[in-house]
Amino acid sequence: MQKSDSKTVAGKTISKWIDEVPVIADIMDKRETVWLNTDLLPFEEAILKSELQKKDIKDASDRLRRFASYLKRVFPETAENDGIIESPFCAIPKMKEALEEKYGEKINGELLIKLDSHLAVSGSIKARGGIYEVLCVAERIAMREGGLKETDDYAILADEKYKKIFSKYSIAVGSTGNLGLSIGIMSAKLGFRVTVHMSADARQWKKDMLRSKGVIVKEYENDYSVAVENGRREAENDEFCHFVDDENSKTLFLGYSVAAERLKRQFDEAGIAINKENPLYVYLPCGVGGGPGGVAFGLKMQFGDNVHCFFAEPTESCCMMLGMATGKHNEISVNDFGVENKTIADGLAVGRASGFVGKQMLSFMDGCYSVSDERMSALLKMIADTENIKLEPSALAGMFGPVSLSKKLGKLPRGYHLVWATGGSMVPSDEYKKYYEQGEKVIDNGNI
Ligand SMILES: *Cc1c(COP(=O)(O)O)cnc(C)c1O
Repeated sequence: MQKSDSKTVAGKTISKWIDEVPVIADIMDKRETVWLNTDLLPFEEAILKSELQKKDIKDASDRLRRFASYLKRVFPETAENDGIIESPFCAIPKMKEALEEKYGEKINGELLIKLDSHLAVSGSIKARGGIYEVLCVAERIAMREGGLKETDDYAILADEKYKKIFSKYSIAVGSTGNLGLSIGIMSAKLGFRVTVHMSADARQWKKDMLRSKGVIVKEYENDYSVAVENGRREAENDEFCHFVDDENSKTLFLGYSVAAERLKRQFDEAGIAINKENPLYVYLPCGVGGGPGGVAFGLKMQFGDNVHCFFAEPTESCCMMLGMATGKHNEISVNDFGVENKTIADGLAVGRASGFVGKQMLSFMDGCYSVSDERMSALLKMIADTENIKLEPSALAGMFGPVSLSKKLGKLPRGYHLVWATGGSMVPSDEYKKYYEQGEKVIDNGNI
C-alpha cells in the first residue's frame, strides 16, 4: 500500500484518511470488502430528511403510463407488456446451490434475480432512467409546441408533425456505454438529433449499434468524466440542446425508482410478502449511482425498514463506497487513492460517484461492497451454466452480495435475497463468448 504523507486528498493526508476510515485501506489494495453504513436511519426518519418523496415517483410512474401507447407503437417488442418496459424476476435455486457449494456460505432464504438485463429497447437498467428522461423532454416540447395534452393518446407522438418539431432539438449525453444506448435509441426514435460522448473504454459494438441508428458518437481518449464534461460544455452553448446529466439528474433517478412499485406488484402476484419475518435484501451494481440509487429509493418507499439495499462495485471503481464512507461524495475519487478505475465491468467503470445520489441515499442504504473482475467473470460463467442466463460482467457485481454479506456478518440474515441483474441481453454473441471464456479461465486457475 502506498502511504504518502506529503499528498493530501480533500484536506487530509492519505494515512489520516485510512486512520479515520479504515475501509480505504481495502479500497487502495483493491481487496474485496464490505462497508456497512452507520448513517442508515429508520425509514420514517430518513424520509423526513429526503428531498425526493413518494409523489415524485408517482409523477414519473404516471408519465410512463401516458407514454405506453407511444412506446407500443414504435417499439413493437413492448406490445406484449402494453408499452410498459419492465423485466421479470425469478428464483435461481441452482445458482444458489452452486454459490453455497463453491464459497461455503449458506444463503439463508430464497435467491432471486431481477432481469433488467432483458428489458426491452436497450437491454439494461438504463432502459428505465435513460428512456424516462428523454420522454420527459419530449413531453415538455410536445406540449409547448404541438399542443399535446396529458389526456391525449400519446401514440400521436410518432406522427410526422411531432417528429418535425423534435428534429429542431438535440439531446446529448456522456456515457460509458449503456446510458448512451438507451438515450441514443430513444432520442433517435422520437426524431431528436442526438450525440453520445463516449469514453475510449466503451465497447465498439455499442458505438457501431448507435451509429447504425443515426446517433452521432464522439469518442474520447480519457475516461468517462472527460466525455461527460465535453458533452456538458457543448450543450451549454446550445439552447436547443438538452444534456442528460448522469451525475446530477433527478429525472433519471426518478425514472429508475418506478421499478419498485412494479416489483411490489410482481411479488404480490407471486405470493411473496415482504415483512419483518421475511425481509428483502437487494444487491445493486453501482456505477455513478443513479440507477441503483433510484431503484433502492423506490424500494425503501415500498418496503420501508423491511428492505435492505446494498451497492455493489468493482474493486477498481468503488467510488460510491469511498464517497459515502468519507462523507466526501463527489469531492473525492478512487484515482486520488491510486486506484485506476480499470475494470471489465464497463457499466460500473466510474471513479467519482454522483454527489446527489450519495447524499440522497446515505440515510437509506445498508452498505456497499466490492468485487474483483475475476469474481464477476467467474459468476458470469456460473449463472450461464446453472440457470442459462446470459449477463454482462457489470450485472454480476450483485451476485456475490449474499456471500460477501454472510462472510462479513458471520451468517446471512434469513429473507429474500434479490440480485439486480443490470444488463447483458444486447451483448453480441461473439463478445459474450469472450466473457464466458474469461470466466472459464479464472475458474480453472482455481483461486476464485
Ligand atoms: C449503468 C449501469 C449500472 C449502474 O448504474 P449507475 O447509474 O451508473 O450507477 C449497472 N449495471 C449496468 C449494466 C449498467 O449499464
